[in-house]
Amino acid sequence: MSNSLALFAKATRCGRFAMLAGSIAWASTACQMPRADTPARATPVEGLHLDRTASGQAGVTRVRAVAKAGPAFDLYFDAASERHALTSAPRLASMYADIAVAAAAPVANIRWHPVLFARDPEGRLAAALGSKEIVWTVPMQADGRPATSPIGPLDGHFALDVLIPHEQVHALQHSMYGSHRELPRWFVEGQAEWLGMRISERYAPAAARRARANRADNLAQADGSIDLRRWRMRADPAANVGRGTQAPILSVSESEQEAEAQGLAEAASYAAADALFQRVSREAGDDAMRRWFAAVAATRGDLDSAAMAALVKRETGVDIDADLANRSKTRL
Ligand SMILES: [Zn+2]
Repeated sequence: MSNSLALFAKATRCGRFAMLAGSIAWASTACQMPRADTPARATPVEGLHLDRTASGQAGVTRVRAVAKAGPAFDLYFDAASERHALTSAPRLASMYADIAVAAAAPVANIRWHPVLFARDPEGRLAAALGSKEIVWTVPMQADGRPATSPIGPLDGHFALDVLIPHEQVHALQHSMYGSHRELPRWFVEGQAEWLGMRISERYAPAAARRARANRADNLAQADGSIDLRRWRMRADPAANVGRGTQAPILSVSESEQEAEAQGLAEAASYAAADALFQRVSREAGDDAMRRWFAAVAATRGDLDSAAMAALVKRETGVDIDADLANRSKTRL
């Protein structure tokens, strides 16, 4: 198995984590009203220009999409998937612009992960295209329609509307926070979960509801307390902000079952991290979240959990120490 193929397999699992992890935290703080905020939504992306080139892979076309004063990103597609890929380009451009606004990031400074629209069940195309960078796949059928699957990254709609927003938050993290800094995993995954799901809820409410319901189911199976300060990087290559642009590779001897068990065990940590972000957002508002994220971008060097908590307190006024230290199932 090549490194790229391993990345693809893990990426699929990461999508599963994104699907499984989650939060039912609003019950405990429902009495707290959010502050009035400027809307997080960006203006619709205009002037999207598509520039077609050869991809270097047989049967695959590459399109560079550049929006005027907006995001620039690459799409790949096989012949059958061309129409869906091209009609999805404005949707992706708007999603990316919204992610950037919500994270207080200049949209033009972000290097988004390329997206492949293709029938590629073995991940060979994604692996070949992604030898130098991570490529996310929207699974397609031979008839040019998105692939269908009960739920998860093998479903074309889920991949586009739930997986990709989460993963593109990781792309933003690489671009804005640096690739050689160590940030707490609860921040990296919590921001991707919280921000990605906000985008999913905006563009595909039904898919977002299903994803959150699945994550709630999984959370119900978790027991014991979760110490987010001890949560270390494991299986999400795109999230690896702290260790350079080349993600570490899990041992290929790790079986799918082991990986799945690992994923289920980790799901509660994703849920707790998401819950932390939801609570800060609810109590401090979207503008405060943007101040927090801008402060992370402006800070140099590593940030451990204590330093990040101090930064959260300074920028949002919210104390997250209890969320980090002892996030029990009952509190979720
Ligand atoms: Zn992630």
